[in-house]
Amino acid sequence: MINALTIDVEDYFQVTAFERQIKPEEWGEYPLRVERNTLRILDMLDEFALKATFFVLGWVAERLPALVKEISRRGHEIACHGYGHQLVYRLSPQEFRQDISRAKSLLEDLCGERVHGYRAPSYSITTRSLWALDILVEEGFTYDSSIFPITHDIYGIPGGKRFPHEISTHAGKIREFPISTFPLKVGWWKSQLPICGGGYLRLFPVALVARAIQAINVTEKQPVIVYFHPWEIDPAQPRIRAGAKSCFRHYLNLERMELKVRHLLDNFSFSSAREVLSRT
Ligand SMILES: [Zn+2]
Repeated sequence: MINALTIDVEDYFQVTAFERQIKPEEWGEYPLRVERNTLRILDMLDEFALKATFFVLGWVAERLPALVKEISRRGHEIACHGYGHQLVYRLSPQEFRQDISRAKSLLEDLCGERVHGYRAPSYSITTRSLWALDILVEEGFTYDSSIFPITHDIYGIPGGKRFPHEISTHAGKIREFPISTFPLKVGWWKSQLPICGGGYLRLFPVALVARAIQAINVTEKQPVIVYFHPWEIDPAQPRIRAGAKSCFRHYLNLERMELKVRHLLDNFSFSSAREVLSRT
């Protein structure tokens, strides 16, 4: 079973956890670390001889065009993380269309290929913003990987489908590759445990994550989609003063993340999201 490996290319000061401390107008004042961190990821993927999908933020692509070209040159899939990292359900449909079409054309110009995939900032396609899927189809995207089938304060569609599927919109069909979860049942209590990326991968022991992936691959016969961010393998990043919850979410176990990712790359097969979708 081949699983999808995805990297959301953004910097440490652009995350939703720090949106109250740092406004988008102030992003230019922070030292960029995304280039060196992404290059480290590219070298790591070369070591494992595997290809991944990079959901690149338009703001980053505009400032670091050579980085986008380098990701593409090394044979990885370039996909779109929007332009300004604003939560989809806070945008109007017109604002959303502008954000994604600006980012998509920037990325397509840089990599010289059509961009097929989209991932919303902080998985913010929820029941409040399903209209976004229509606009994605209209703007030429063929797949989305933004829906997280869990309950969470910022994102999630509780009870949503867990594996790749097709969604019909007014504008046509789009493939959805939901963020992976593992079903957990304790007595009468049932839940979906997010396990395959970001803060959850930093939180849970990697042996537990590996067992969950194994169970999904072998018992459920489905691929998972693993995701992380360049800033998550960078324990030396400047510290932002924020509330306890935001700091917990952003800084937990940064120093262990690269080893955890390496453990997964060592034990499972991975490819780009587009390649995995073509097999399902
Ligand atoms: Zn993001």
